[in-house]
Amino acid sequence: MRAIVDQEFAAERARYALRHACEDCVFFVDETGRCANGYPNAMHRDAAFMVGAPVDGTFCKDFELR
Ligand code: SF4
Repeated sequence: MRAIVDQEFAAERARYALRHACEDCVFFVDETGRCANGYPNAMHRDAAFMVGAPVDGTFCKDFELR
């Protein structure tokens, strides 16, 4: 699911400490920045959910909270 990343989303993300990106997923490999399941993950990383990011943030259906 693609997210509309705007100031409102950024504020809610911070207010509720939302965890949805690769960096908080059990399948994220810290050493490489890649997904252990082999998915391309640039659009699922934290940076993609920042306002003005060059890549649109997209929620991953395989996300599992660490
Ligand atoms: S399963 Fe999805 S959210 Fe988790 S590391 Fe892989 S791409 Fe990222």
